[in-house]
Amino acid sequence: MENEETLIRDFDSNLICDYFGRLERQGPGSPESTIRALSFIDNFSNELKIADFACGTGGQTMTLAQNTKGTITGLDIFPDFIGKFNTNAEKLGLQNRVKGIVGSMDNLPFQNEEFDVIWSEGAIANIGFEKGLNYWKGFLKKDGYIAVTYESWFTDERPTEIEKFWVDAVPEIGTIGHNISIMQKAGYSLVAAFTLPEKCWTDTYFIPQKAIQKTFLKKNAGNKAAEAFVEYMKYEAELYSKYKQYYGYVFYIGKKI
Ligand code: SAM
Repeated sequence: MENEETLIRDFDSNLICDYFGRLERQGPGSPESTIRALSFIDNFSNELKIADFACGTGGQTMTLAQNTKGTITGLDIFPDFIGKFNTNAEKLGLQNRVKGIVGSMDNLPFQNEEFDVIWSEGAIANIGFEKGLNYWKGFLKKDGYIAVTYESWFTDERPTEIEKFWVDAVPEIGTIGHNISIMQKAGYSLVAAFTLPEKCWTDTYFIPQKAIQKTFLKKNAGNKAAEAFVEYMKYEAELYSKYKQYYGYVFYIGKKI
């Protein structure tokens, strides 16, 4: 790459929003995996108060809403995503139960013990797995649930190329066993942990990106940072197909003790 951007967070937020705002999901995941994680939550047919941190444009939030009763507050740092989130909620007739607000996951505008369930897909690394689990616990009722997906190693050893990519992006990245022990130390009992299937990366993440890259580049013609951003995303996809046996997203579901 010609310029200095080497991590997704180094890119301009307008570019990130322009690119990912074109997609239904901003990270790997699927309705099936969201529903599977939800199935581990006792009483999920009751009226629950749910928070979805780093909700993006709300792909997983709308699935949650369609499969639960009660209310959901989505929170994301980018106003652009929250605008699309609230439009999506309205389109699906969910606006009375689902509301998106702008905010940061490390400075939450909520009351202590406000939620039955805290959800977060593909984003806890932004605050740090351990820090997020500890901080967010304060906003959960006793016996409340947390369900997060987090980048995880599947093996103890990895080839250098993939090790470097993920340690640069997520310095704390660890194995599944390590992450479960962090969750337990943070004061949750483990309810379930399962690996997101490959199609959560291909069908809902990489393939939809391929479809929008051309129009994104056309709109941002001549913008070197936009070109570098697409190259970075293509490199992430290449690495996945080469090294997917070494890492992936794991859904961790815990219950506050
Ligand atoms: N949960 C969505 C999904 O799975 O499609 C989005 C996941 S995307 C990989 C990460 C999200 O984290 C983006 O929507 C981004 O705007 C959001 N984000 C990053 N830092 C954040 C912060 N400090 N507070 C809230 N949201 C943040």
